[in-house]
Amino acid sequence: MNDCIFCKIVGGQIPATKVYEDNDFVAFLDIHPVSYGHTLVIPKEHFDKLENTPEETVVKLYKLIRRLAPAVVAGSEAEGYNLGLNSGAVAGQVIFHTHVHIIPRRKNDGLELWGEKEYQGNMMDEIAKKIRAAIKQALN
Ligand code: AMP
Ligand code: ZN
Repeated sequence: MNDCIFCKIVGGQIPATKVYEDNDFVAFLDIHPVSYGHTLVIPKEHFDKLENTPEETVVKLYKLIRRLAPAVVAGSEAEGYNLGLNSGAVAGQVIFHTHVHIIPRRKNDGLELWGEKEYQGNMMDEIAKKIRAAIKQALN
């Protein structure tokens, strides 16, 4: 799709180090890896983010990731992995074409997960109440 970098990778207009491809999906190495072997998995069709991606595409995407991720780990000589999906600019999404990060992890690799916060007072219940209401509306 026009000036989307990942569509250009799908269309072969810009190069990528592909590690897997089928009719519907491509997996390739991230050019700025968080860890060596960091792989992106994308549907070939353009959708800007997860919630705008058809359910059946998401199901197929994650079914594929379930099989690819251990192979990415094995090929990267790593021991585990994190999956990442950034949705929205505020969450660090830079490329608005649905993609999932497979990040190989090794012992003492220096990567840290997100910091933790503590809920104060009744904040946890209040937030849960609002989230439950939003979910109820979303699933209606
Ligand atoms: P996100 O922040 O979730 O949108 O992730 C976009 C990712 O795409 C970043 O980790 C970039 O390093 C990666 N990226 C951007 N351009 C390319 C490219 N041409 N080939 C491979 N990875 C890319
Ligand atoms: Zn695209």
